[in-house]
Amino acid sequence: MDNTNKPQNFSRRNFLQKSLLVGGAAALMNKFTMPLAYGQADLPAKVPFAGENQETISYSACLVNCGSRCPLKVHVKNDIITKISSEDGINDAIFGQHQIRPCLRGRAVRWRTYNPERLKFPMLRVGKRGEGKFKRISWDEATDILASKLRHTIDTYGNEAIFYQYGSGTTGANLSGRGMSKRLLNTLGGFVDYHGTYSDAQIMTIQPYLFGSTNNNYGTQLQSLFDQIKHSDLVVMFGQNIAETRMSGGGQVTELYHALAESNAKVIIIDPRCNDSVVAYNADWIPIRPGTDAALVAAISYTLIQENRIDEEMLAKYCVGWDSQSLPEGAPLNSDYKSYILGLGKDNVAKTPEWAEKLTGISAQRIRQLALEISDAKAAWISQGWGVQRTQTGEHAARAIMTLPIMTGHFGRPGTNIGTWGGSVAYPVAGMPTLSNPVKVTIPVFMWTKAIDDGESLTAKNAFIKGKDKLDVGIKFLWNYASNVIGNQHADLNKTHQILADESKCEFILVWDTHMTASAKYADLLLPDVSGVETSDLINNSYQSGAYNYLIRMQAAIKPLWENRITYDVLTDVAEKLNVKDAFTEGKSYQDWIELCYEQTRANNPDLPTFTKTDGQGVIDRRLADSNEHIALKDFRDDPINQPLKTPSGKIELYSQTLANIASDWELDEKDKLYPIPAYLPAIEGVEDVAGLEKYPLQLTGYHTKGHCHSSYANLPQLKEASADAVWINPIDAEKRQIKHGQLVEVYNDRGRLYLPAKVTPRIIPGVLAIPQGAWAKTNKDGVDIGGCINRLTSQRPTVLAKGNPQHTNLVDVKLLSL
Ligand code: SF4
Repeated sequence: MDNTNKPQNFSRRNFLQKSLLVGGAAALMNKFTMPLAYGQADLPAKVPFAGENQETISYSACLVNCGSRCPLKVHVKNDIITKISSEDGINDAIFGQHQIRPCLRGRAVRWRTYNPERLKFPMLRVGKRGEGKFKRISWDEATDILASKLRHTIDTYGNEAIFYQYGSGTTGANLSGRGMSKRLLNTLGGFVDYHGTYSDAQIMTIQPYLFGSTNNNYGTQLQSLFDQIKHSDLVVMFGQNIAETRMSGGGQVTELYHALAESNAKVIIIDPRCNDSVVAYNADWIPIRPGTDAALVAAISYTLIQENRIDEEMLAKYCVGWDSQSLPEGAPLNSDYKSYILGLGKDNVAKTPEWAEKLTGISAQRIRQLALEISDAKAAWISQGWGVQRTQTGEHAARAIMTLPIMTGHFGRPGTNIGTWGGSVAYPVAGMPTLSNPVKVTIPVFMWTKAIDDGESLTAKNAFIKGKDKLDVGIKFLWNYASNVIGNQHADLNKTHQILADESKCEFILVWDTHMTASAKYADLLLPDVSGVETSDLINNSYQSGAYNYLIRMQAAIKPLWENRITYDVLTDVAEKLNVKDAFTEGKSYQDWIELCYEQTRANNPDLPTFTKTDGQGVIDRRLADSNEHIALKDFRDDPINQPLKTPSGKIELYSQTLANIASDWELDEKDKLYPIPAYLPAIEGVEDVAGLEKYPLQLTGYHTKGHCHSSYANLPQLKEASADAVWINPIDAEKRQIKHGQLVEVYNDRGRLYLPAKVTPRIIPGVLAIPQGAWAKTNKDGVDIGGCINRLTSQRPTVLAKGNPQHTNLVDVKLLSL
C-alpha cells in the first residue's frame, strides 16, 4: 500500500465538518425505517433453508453509472435482506486506506430490491407499443421468441439491422449482461454498436484535435488526478459539481477534500447554479448563462493580452495557431486565436470583458479579476464537468476551457490540469471476452432515433457514422439492456414516441431490466433481470473514482427473486436455440467465468490471495495511485521535441487544420458552424436566439442530483423525500410569474410540457431554470409529463461534430399550474 500521499497537515475535524455537509442526506437516510408492509406483498413465498434465522453478510456493490463504485455489506436473514451497511475501510483518517462509503443511493438498495416496480416474469407486449400492456410468458417461450426474432432480422436485413442500445444501469458490473449480450451477438455475425456516450461525447470527440488524444503518451488518461490539488493555490471549475456527482467515499469527492485540506487553495466554481460543491468546498460562485463559457474564456484571454500577461515565447514553443506566426501553412490570414480575441478576425469584434458581460451575465469587472487571479496563481488547477459540453455548441465550449490552462501556462506542472474533468485510475480486472464484432459500422450514441426513422440517409459526412460511408439499412432490432434511454433519457420524448410507435420502422424491441421503467413500456419482449444483490461478479472502482482504486468480489446475497434468472443463463439458452452455445459458453458456467477472470487478474498481481480465500472478503485489494505520475501533459511540457503530442504538428493545436478540413468537407446544417479555433458560437435556443427568446424567454438546463443517479433509484419514495426533484427558478423570474416556493408549475415549450414543484432560490442565475435529469417519465391523459422528466422538453438536434446530446440547450417558459 502506497501511503506517500498521506496529508501532513490534514485536520480531521475540518474534514468531518465538511463531510457532514455532503453526507447530510445520507445521514438522514439512517433515520428511515422501511415500513413493514412495504414491498413484502411482492416477495416470493419463503422456502425454509439451512441457516434459517441466522444472519449472514455478503458483499455486493452499487453498480449504477455514477462514475464510482461502492461495496455494500448485505445483511440477510431467511433469504431476505434486513440491512445494507458499508465496508469498514482500514483507517478512515488516512487517504488511501479510507472507507469506501456509499451515498444515500447505495444505502437504498434494500428498498430498490423489493420495490413493487421490479419485473418478475418474462412478458410479451399485448397493447400498442409504449402503452405498457403485457402478458406473462414462460422463459422457454421468451427465449424462443428472442432466438427467432434475431434469426429473422439477420436473414431478412442482415446484422447491420441490429443495434445494441446505450445503457448504463449496470455500468459497474464486469461480467454483466452488457458484455455477454454483445458476446452472443458477435457469435451470430455482429451488430451495429454506438460510439461516444450521452454524458461526454462532445468533449471526448474534440479533445484529440487540441491535444492529439484523450490519452497521454503512456496510454493512461490525459488528465491530472485531483490529488494534485494539494500543490495548487487556485482551483477553477467550470460547471463541475463533484459533491453531487462523485459522492462515493472511495471517489473524487473525498480525494478533493483531502487535497484541499493540504493546499488550502482558493476554489472558484463557474455554473448557472450555486451547486452543492460551492457550499461543500467553500468556493466563490460565479453565475454564468448556459452556453457562454467560450465567451468567458475569450474575454479572459483579451484581458491577459491587454495586461501583458501572456508568455508568447512559451506559447510559440508548445502551440500552433495562437498567433499569425504559428498558423499552419495555407490557413487564412488572421484566422489565429489571438486575432479572433483582438477583433482582427472575420467577425471584427474584440472579445472584451464588456462584450462577454452581455453574453455571460458576469460583470466585466469580475471577468478581469478572474483573469488576473488565474494569471497570478502559482499553480492553477482548471477543470470542467461534462455539463458545459452537453450543450448545442459544446465542442467549442469544452475546447475553449481546455485552452485556458494552456494560455496561462498552468499545464504540465504539479497542481495543474488541462481543463478536463480530472483523472482516474482503474484497478485492472479481467473480464469475459466479448469477441470481435464482424460489423464495423458504428453510429453516434445520440443518433439512434434518426437511424430508426431514416437510417439509410445517415452518412459519415452528415451524421458521423464510423467504419463505413453510410448505413445501408435502418435499425430493425433494438437490444436494450439495463437501459432507460428509449423512454426516458433520450431527448424529445414525444418525438421519440412517434418514431418507436411506428412498428414498420423498428420491428422488434427487446428490453431487459430490473424495473418497469418508462423504456420497459416500449418493449415487445420484456425480460426481468436479477439485481446486483442477486448475482455475483468481480468488479473494480469504475471509470472515474480518482486515485483510489480497488478490486471487489461481489457474491449473491439472496437467491434470484420471483422468476428472475442470471443473464448468462438466459443467453446460454438463446445461444443453444441458435446453435451457437459452444462458441458462446466455451463450456463454462457463469461461476467458472468469474473464477477464470479472477485467476487472470491474479496472474498479473501474484500477491492477491487465491480465489477460495476471497470468499466473503468483499474488497480484495486496494491501491492509491501516485498522482505525481498523473500530471496531464507533463512529459510534453518537459520535452516537447522528444515527447511530441499525437496532433499533426506534434504541438497543442489552438488552430486545427483538421477541423478546418472537416468544416469544409462535411455536410453541415447551414445553422451549424465548426471553427478551427475555440471560438464562442451562439447556439440555437441560446442567449442570442432573439426570436426563440421572444416566444420562450427562459433557458433550461438539467443537472445531476443526489436523489438518483440518472434514472436509477429515481422511483424510490424514500429518496424522493430525502432529495426532492424541483424546478429551480430565481426569485426575479418567479415574481414576474407570481410563482411561490413549493407551488406546482408547468414548464413548457413546443416539444412538450411537464409539472414539477418550484424551488424559488437565488442559487440560480436569473433567466435560467434547472431541472434534475433522470426523473421517470410519466404522462397524463393530456400528454403532460407528471413525472417531471426533463427530456419531455429537450431537443434531438445533435451537436455539430460529435453529433452528441445537447441536453442543456433549451428555451422554455414556466407558469403557475391552475388545476
Ligand atoms: S451511487 Fe455511486 S456513490 Fe452512491 S452508493 Fe452507488 S456507487 Fe456509491
